[in-house]
Order: sequence, then C-alpha cells, then structure tokens
Amino acid sequence: MEVSLILNQKRLTIHEAHDLLKTRQLSSVELTKAYLERIREIDPGVHAFVTVTDELALKQAQKADGIIARGDIGPLTGIPGLIKDNICTRGVLTTCSSKMLANFVPPYAATVVERLEAGGAVVVGKANMDEFAMGSSTENSAIFTTRNPWDLSRVPGGSSGGSAAAVVAGEAVYALGSDTGGSIRQPAGFCSITGLKPTYGLVSRYGLVAFASSLDQIGPLTQDVTDCALVMNAIAGHDPRDSTSAPNPIPDYTHSLKTDLTGLRLGIPREYFVEGMQTQVADAIRVAISQLEELGATVNRAASLPHTRYALAVYYIIAPSEASANLARYDGVKYGFSYQDTDNMWEAMEKTRQYGFGPEVKRRIMLGTYALSAGYYDAYYLKAQKVRTIIRQEFDEIFKQFDALITPTSPTVPFKVGEKTADPLQMYLSDVCTLPINIAGVPAISIPAGFVEGLPIGMQIIGRPFGEETILQIAYAYEQATEWHKRRPSI
Ligand code: GLN
Repeated sequence: MEVSLILNQKRLTIHEAHDLLKTRQLSSVELTKAYLERIREIDPGVHAFVTVTDELALKQAQKADGIIARGDIGPLTGIPGLIKDNICTRGVLTTCSSKMLANFVPPYAATVVERLEAGGAVVVGKANMDEFAMGSSTENSAIFTTRNPWDLSRVPGGSSGGSAAAVVAGEAVYALGSDTGGSIRQPAGFCSITGLKPTYGLVSRYGLVAFASSLDQIGPLTQDVTDCALVMNAIAGHDPRDSTSAPNPIPDYTHSLKTDLTGLRLGIPREYFVEGMQTQVADAIRVAISQLEELGATVNRAASLPHTRYALAVYYIIAPSEASANLARYDGVKYGFSYQDTDNMWEAMEKTRQYGFGPEVKRRIMLGTYALSAGYYDAYYLKAQKVRTIIRQEFDEIFKQFDALITPTSPTVPFKVGEKTADPLQMYLSDVCTLPINIAGVPAISIPAGFVEGLPIGMQIIGRPFGEETILQIAYAYEQATEWHKRRPSI
C-alpha cells in the first residue's frame, strides 16, 4: 500500500493506523518512512520540529514490526508520535526552544517517554514551543515561530504550538505537550484538534523541564477523542519518581467513549464569556452547548465562578515566582549554554543568563523574583496563594452541582504572527479561559467546535479532580455528533 498517498488525502488517527498495522496492510517501517517524508516536505513551511529523529524512529519502527510479528501489538505500537521539546528524551536533544539548552542532551528519559517506548511507540521528533513553555503563540521560541497549518500567516497557539501544528498537518499521528496555563488546550483549539490537560498529579512530571511546578502537567494532543483516551491509557498513573504523583488507580479511558449524555449536568460559568471575546466564538460555543443538550445533558446557563476574574492576576504571580526558582539552575556550570569569556565566575553566570534566556523568560524571572522578595512576598505571593485557595474552593463547590463545565477554550480564533508580540498583556489575555483550570488543578479538554472564516474554534470541557472519564465522554459524544474533527487543512 502507498502510505504517502493515504497521508496526503487523509490523516491517520492512532486507532486507524493501529488497524492497518494489526492486519498487516502496513508495516511500522513503511508508516514511519511516510511520516518522515511528509515532515521533510512540509515542515520547512510549518516549522513544527526542532529535531527530527529519523534514525531513532526507524530503529523503533523495526523493533515495533518485530513486536507486531510476535502478535504482541499494543494500541500505540509502531505509531509515529512527537514529543514537546521540554520533555526529556534520552540521548536526544531537549532544548525547550531556548538558547540556554540548545546543546542539552539528557542522559535520561521522562517517565511518559519511557511508558510510550515500553508500548512500542515510535518517536519522530521534538516539537517547537515557546521558550521554557512561556507564551501562547510559539513566537517566544528562540529557534523559529511555528505556523498555523490552517493559515501560515497565523500562530498555532502555544506554548505547545509545534505539537499541535504537526498533528493537524499530518506530520505525526499524535503528540505530547505540557500545560501550565493553557499550553495544550489553546494550541489544540487554534489547530482544531483534541488536547487534554489532566488533573494535577495524574501524569508524571518526572523528566518534564519545570516551568511552574504546582501547575505543570503533561498531556496528549490528538486528532480525535478516541486517540486522546488511548494516549492517556499509556501515560497516566503513579510514578514514585514524581513526589506529586497521585496514587489513584487508572481506568481504561476508552470505556468512557459513549455517545449518550443522559443524566449529566453541565454548568456554563458565565464569567468565561469574557469581555473582548469574539462574538463568533461565543456564538459557536452556544450552538455547541445546545447540541450537548440534544445529546441528553441538562444544562444550566447561569452557573458562576466569580473569582475567575482574579485567576489571570494570580497566575502571573504564582507561575513567574515558581519559574524564577526553577530557572535559577541555569548558571552555565553543570549543563547547557555557558558564557566563559570572562575573568570571574560571577560575571560568567551573569552573562550566561543574559545571553542564554530570551526576553519573555527574563520578564518572568524578574516578575517572580520581585513577587518573592522580602517586603513584597506578603503583598503579592502570599496574597496570590490565598486567592488561589478561594478559586479552588469555588471549583469544589460548583462541582457539587455539575458533572462538568463548558466554556470556549480561547476568546479569539488564531491571531496573526506579530499581532500581539508588542504587548505582553494582550498575549497573556489569550489564556483567560484556560488559566483558572491549572490554578484549581482540575482536568480540562479542548475539542474542535467550529470555524470562523476557515479558522478553528475550540470548546473547553472542565471536569472534577480525576473526572477525566466524564469529560472524555462529553467530548466523544459531541465529536461523534459533529464533523469538525474531520476537517483538515489542505497543506
Ligand atoms: N501562556 C501561558 C504562559 O505563558 C501558559 C503557558 C503554559 O501553559 N505553559 O504562561
């Protein structure tokens, strides 16, 4: 079978590729070669890949074909996936799209990568991102800006923009991203794919380069909800190497893929239809909500999470504070970029940080250092932590009434490259709907819910802590009742 032909006409999902591999209509080596060829062909326009791991991928594909021949095929065996470049891959460059780590080859792999590889997965490369995951457009990457495959003059979202763009463009079957304030969901929404930010603690952070440790989570970016469940099955679960990892037993997430929503109570928190939201985005989500009602759910359109309006402020104290501590380790001594053309150690460290970090990363370090400094700690950091507690309690309360909450993922469709780079606050505002979820630590998924003039709109479904099964069910029911997830850009 001519694989590249299939890929040009149609993007294979994990479950479709699995069926072809299992029935031996296709080998993993053929499939992997077709993806590598497509990456070579279209990535010069998309810029989703920091590193393409040709050799490794083909080796893994050969191994996968061996596993398949033995009849041991698993759901991800032999299927090409992509890893965000802040997730450590043993022996493979992990740059965080930063000059600081441009030469960093980790001697170990993240737990999620180990788990994928144990299941026979094939890794085709490392995905571009905003430097150290700080941003919403990939324009903060020190390497290049990833383009949105729906319109190459627009951003794919961020910070997992490379992961999302590659998946929708058919350069990888699925990808892993990380989400601290929206970095999986916002690019998934901007690219019209599925992206899940799991409950804090559900997926191991071991080997994820830390940005804000109390908010960071790894999760899947996939072409449909079934694939999302399959990747979650592979990566979720307790890890003794991550002290914040939850001990909860992991269900088979594919059991949640049901099309009936009878009995489910959905809340629409009105604060999430924020001022400045594009009317077509709000309208599309309202239509989607009516469809969820038709599928059997009970909807309350007057739900409220009043402290949501403080989430942005709280996030931009807590995330930079944690970042300023986490990024203190980049001093040019142990690994990464090192400026050595000086007479003394202090100047070497200063210059290493001056030239190694980009402007947004420095802005966050300064914000965080300021918020944590003596005299300001109580006024900013401590206050933000107190408001964080109130926001969490508000989520606990609202989930006594509802099984899930529905909001837009982002206030706008993908914006133009360069449109928001001059004003950091404008950029920060693109995450107003996603940030509160990380503050609360609950799970949320973004799924395709329409288009405005050819540009994607994402719908966010928020769940209780460890309520992934419920939000996957709602996402699946909506997806099966609509066609949005089948549309693909003609790239
Ligand atoms: N855009 C947000 C920020 O810049 C969130 C990023 C993320 O989730 N990693 O902090």
